[in-house]
Amino acid sequence: MKPLIYCPKCRQERSVSVNHTIESYPVKNEPIEIKAEVFICDACGEELWDQKADDRNLEKAYRIYRKNHQLLQPEEIKNIRDRYGLTQIEYARLLGLGDKTVTRYEAGSIQDNAPNNLMVLSRSPEVMRFLLERGRSLLSKQKFSEVMEKVNGFEANTIKKMTPLLLHDREDDQ
Ligand SMILES: [Zn+2]
Repeated sequence: MKPLIYCPKCRQERSVSVNHTIESYPVKNEPIEIKAEVFICDACGEELWDQKADDRNLEKAYRIYRKNHQLLQPEEIKNIRDRYGLTQIEYARLLGLGDKTVTRYEAGSIQDNAPNNLMVLSRSPEVMRFLLERGRSLLSKQKFSEVMEKVNGFEANTIKKMTPLLLHDREDDQ
């Protein structure tokens, strides 16, 4: 069933069709062009504003902005955090960020360069080991050992994975 939206021109709810137009959305004072989703009144052809469509368009613009500025996307941040089994607050505290920051980034806010760099670096188990040791008091004893165990596992895997890669590279050189 087609969605119904109030059309101010028809002065009643009308069924609408989705159309796509190139629109510019300002993100942090930078105009970002996206293929925006717009609703068109089936009866009169008027372009109708819709909060949900606008939210989706803005999210699209944010994703492009992050890509252009080499910033992590929300799901990439979540992936890094999930690999260590950390909650949003635990991860934020270990990084030295405010308690709510990671929650906001994962919900779609755009992070500045400094927190972005921290999160990128924290992918490395070696960096996470440093953060854990430094922030030992920020986690419960049990959580600390759980995360440290994961870090140890990742480090062991990295070595295993890198060995054949290096051998392979050597073969190519010959
Ligand atoms: Zn209409």
